[in-house]
Amino acid sequence: MLSGNGVGLFASDMHLGDHDPDTAAFFFEKLAAAWPRATQVFLLGDLFEAWVGDDQPDGIAAEALTQFARIAASGRRLWLMRGNRDFLLDTARDTPQGGFAERCGAVMLDDPCVFDLFGEPVVLTHGDALCTDDTDYQHLRTRLRSVQWQQAFLARPLPERLAFARAMRTESERYKAAAGAPADVAQTAVDALLRACGARTMIHGHTHRPACHRWSDAYGDACRWVLSDWDARDGRGGFLWATAEGLRAASV
Ligand code: MN
Repeated sequence: MLSGNGVGLFASDMHLGDHDPDTAAFFFEKLAAAWPRATQVFLLGDLFEAWVGDDQPDGIAAEALTQFARIAASGRRLWLMRGNRDFLLDTARDTPQGGFAERCGAVMLDDPCVFDLFGEPVVLTHGDALCTDDTDYQHLRTRLRSVQWQQAFLARPLPERLAFARAMRTESERYKAAAGAPADVAQTAVDALLRACGARTMIHGHTHRPACHRWSDAYGDACRWVLSDWDARDGRGGFLWATAEGLRAASV
């Protein structure tokens, strides 16, 4: 819950990883400048380009952990949500060091969840589950989110898991090249989720189409904030700020 003088800072889709140190440096710099002005920080999925388990041997992931730990150590609450790329984040809690969230002092959020922002219920979600027109992807998503698949995958040796992640990434790049962009959300799915959650406001990422969509229907006014993705090559990225005055997007 955020209330009173609280300040929420939202971001998603930085797709961090050793494949793109420039975007990682860009994001870490902007995050370091922004988080001291927030009381709670929300990273809503696809923090990492790929995640094969909390033993991922990735220099950028280690740096992210250090950056995130600084936020939590300052007394601020850091909330993390899994995306479609890093859906295995913090799933191996039986590692000796603890899972990713425990190691950086963060708390995992369910996708979707309802968060009280200054007295208003707001739906937080990564957004891929709303892309219901892409039925092939939704079938794959159901399979990859099953406990059986995840347990079997995490039991495989690290080199096998890394090879799988590389193959998934190639497949995704091929899709993006063919379609021009990730799939967009379906309005029917947005409406259904808002109704199910008893909310009129939603914040999500995933689609790389930053915007604030406002509309009215039989239930009243509604809005859907879409977070920016991050890419150092064209200086793209953005935060969403939540205060008692409302929600406000800020590009970087
Ligand atoms: Mn995504």
